[in-house]
Amino acid sequence: MPPKIGVFSFTSCEGCQLQILNLEDEIPTLIDQIDIVNFREAMDEKGQDYEIAFIEGSVTRESEIEEVKRIRERAKVLIALGACSHLGGVNVLKNFHPQGSWLPYVYGRSDLFSDTIPTKRIKDVVPVDLVLPGCPIDKREFLRFVQGLLLNIKPGLPDYPVCVECRSKGNVCLVEEGKWCLGSVTRAGCGAICPTYRDTCVGCRGIVEGSNIESLCNILMEKGYSKEEIRDKFRIFNGLEEIQSLL
Ligand code: SF4
Ligand code: SF4
Repeated sequence: MPPKIGVFSFTSCEGCQLQILNLEDEIPTLIDQIDIVNFREAMDEKGQDYEIAFIEGSVTRESEIEEVKRIRERAKVLIALGACSHLGGVNVLKNFHPQGSWLPYVYGRSDLFSDTIPTKRIKDVVPVDLVLPGCPIDKREFLRFVQGLLLNIKPGLPDYPVCVECRSKGNVCLVEEGKWCLGSVTRAGCGAICPTYRDTCVGCRGIVEGSNIESLCNILMEKGYSKEEIRDKFRIFNGLEEIQSLL
């Protein structure tokens, strides 16, 4: 019997679900091997008998907490899908402002979402078995994860930084050019797509283990960035990570 899979979404732009749907060439083979029972962006059925749950999005409302707990109770394997779920994503930026003060800027009014709470990662609410990082996720990495789960192999992630991929492409280092870039402390796996197109890495795949954040901060300060500017760059995606005391 193919494993039953549910894909769920909380506070997010839903771009990670879209990446799954972008697997147009692979979906026909995939649906022979897995049984998708719940995937709001793709189908109407809302099956609750899944063994594997992918959760996209972070928790930003009180009402979402119980929903995440219900999914955890039903799923044997729970996977955080994308940066919102894994790190809290850009939704964490609201945590650095007085509660609700951002509502008029985002929605044009302040009387919405009375149950809004500071943004939480999924792992702050329930145990998470695996993380599929990125904003958005890499659709080939999603396929690799599903294939691993089908074979009962725990899918791994690169344990080296984006810089390795960036240098292997022969890119000129953005930091050397005086720009800020978090690629030296961010988990690889995206093919260094941002620096390859001359944009800085904002750390969407999370901080890779063993990173020397202090050293990167010192280099960026030598290039003329203030402590506050560097802290704000890290907050774009990693505002809830246990690195804040280093910034
Ligand atoms: S991680 Fe990025 S692409 Fe995925 S849902 Fe969040 S904001 Fe959208
Ligand atoms: S280069 Fe950095 S910000 Fe860009 S996709 Fe890769 S990890 Fe994310």
